[in-house]
Amino acid sequence: MPQRKLIPPGHGDGLCLSRGQHLRLIDPEGGQSGDLFAVSLDGRQRLSNGRTFDFGGTVYLSAGNQLWSDQSEPLLTIVADEVGRHDFLYAPCNDDMYRKQYGLTNHRNCFSSLTEALRTLGVAPLPLPTAFNFFMNVDIDANGKLHIRAPKSRAGASMVLRAELDLAIALSACPASTCNGGGATKPLAYEVF
Ligand SMILES: [Zn+2]
Repeated sequence: MPQRKLIPPGHGDGLCLSRGQHLRLIDPEGGQSGDLFAVSLDGRQRLSNGRTFDFGGTVYLSAGNQLWSDQSEPLLTIVADEVGRHDFLYAPCNDDMYRKQYGLTNHRNCFSSLTEALRTLGVAPLPLPTAFNFFMNVDIDANGKLHIRAPKSRAGASMVLRAELDLAIALSACPASTCNGGGATKPLAYEVF
């Protein structure tokens, strides 16, 4: 059994994946979304939502889809997905967002969690464009308006991604209640195998 590591609510963690290894992202309690950012270990390639849309042709990514780099190579392949809805449009929540939209200062945020995790791994934290917002549920209506809904992930639900290169991965359990059904922020967990 792979070891399960917990990401506390509103915090992050970093890990390295060798090519061919799998990462399972788990929502232990249900209804919690997270951020994933990936950089190739040689530092040459960073996750890109635009390239992912170029090659995948969809904003709704699930099993069979790949997450691509800014150098047009696949970084990760989604090999299993019990949730089926994730977002790759929104930037990581950060200080500016909490201050300008909610009047909150010194709020935990995914941008800080992700950059701290990358620094811990010895990877340049910037630029940090859009992360893959796993379990985050965003509907796009016919007018193009975005609607953030409660995550579809039930307690214990997971998805599995396979590394296509040696990667540094940063994860964050998002502290934005809007992205988590309006309730308190909950933990996430992961396993490497
Ligand atoms: Zn966030």
